[in-house]
Amino acid sequence: MLIVQKYGGTSVGDLDRIANVAKRVARTRDEGHDVIVVVSAMSGETNKLIEYAHFFSKNPDREAMDLLLSSGERVTSALLSIALNEMGYPAVAMTGRQAGIVTDRTHTAARIEKIDPEPMGSAVREGKVVVVAGFQGIGPDGRVTTLGRGGSDLTAVAIAGAMKADLCEIYTDVDGVYTTDPRIEPKAKKMERISYDEMLELASLGAKVLQNRSVEMAKKMGVNLVTRSSFNDNPGTLITKEENIMEQPLVSGIALDKNQARVSLKGVEDRPGIASEIFNALADENVNVDMIVQTIGADGKTEIDFTVPQTEIERARAALERFRDSIGEIDYKENIAKVSIVGVGMKSHSGVAAKAFTTMAEENINIEMISTSEIKISMIIDEKYAELAVRALHEAYELDK
Ligand code: ASP
Ligand code: MG
Repeated sequence: MLIVQKYGGTSVGDLDRIANVAKRVARTRDEGHDVIVVVSAMSGETNKLIEYAHFFSKNPDREAMDLLLSSGERVTSALLSIALNEMGYPAVAMTGRQAGIVTDRTHTAARIEKIDPEPMGSAVREGKVVVVAGFQGIGPDGRVTTLGRGGSDLTAVAIAGAMKADLCEIYTDVDGVYTTDPRIEPKAKKMERISYDEMLELASLGAKVLQNRSVEMAKKMGVNLVTRSSFNDNPGTLITKEENIMEQPLVSGIALDKNQARVSLKGVEDRPGIASEIFNALADENVNVDMIVQTIGADGKTEIDFTVPQTEIERARAALERFRDSIGEIDYKENIAKVSIVGVGMKSHSGVAAKAFTTMAEENINIEMISTSEIKISMIIDEKYAELAVRALHEAYELDK
């Protein structure tokens, strides 16, 4: 098999840990596999480099930033290849450019456009382990680019796709993806398998493990992703096509998002075009609207409620300023939480939503807003009940079993 292994910042956090990674890579070679390794910078390194730049400028030149930040990953890729060679495992370190990774020209937030399989492919054919510096590529002008924070995951997935790897393993300090946040519910269980779509909906659970953009890319390219820990031999969680999951549980996991705020527009003029005007204004200010609920109007007025990320409240305020004349009253509530129940099994079963509502009723938790999709039920509740709700739902769907 050809396996792409990506090691995150904590996994290569110091020299002993890099030595440990080298042993893991060696073991994979011993098992008879070809390996392309993608590494992050040592943990804290990218932040340190950003601080260095900010010593000189609040708004440093982005091209220079890319040159600076890309250096963190180069250090680890070179060190790991030196360690592997010393152990008798031929290895070659490559920068993004040397690995043939071509991006667009958006410095500090570039998108990968294509990958030339030749440089990595020929090294692998020569029996070498390829160690690629993650998070970087080369723009059309020949300048170094970086992919945005956490971008090494993307490098790994894109390489796995381009090289037609059998597996892309993402190593972190977490064992995999859990049915819910174990800090909230200690009975949370590690999932063996989960589909791309479920993983995307459970983003908050995977946030520490995987960047969402890389799950989207894995889905698009059909890359089998495994997230696992580099500190033990536990098997991790496989993120794959829905068809590859034999027994689909009704509910796979419970996610919690406390960073949402609710905006209530009361006494809104009830006429064609008003929603379009309001939400276009929000879009113009780059506000990401999530849930929207409109109540049936009466006396020519209606009420529209929606949620936005807490960090975008000020932008929402600015956008809504223009509607002074067509909206009676605007209310903002920040202490809300969104609890979501996710599972592909709910497509083919009834009663999943009813059970969620009953569980909230039994705990005396008021549901302020509801939205559903094929594989998700989300509820907005008061933030102070968030943890209670998560634990109650986790138990109601027997996720601890
Ligand atoms: N070193 C980069 C960061 O800290 C990229 C990565 O680790 O994925 O964001
Ligand atoms: Mg990361």
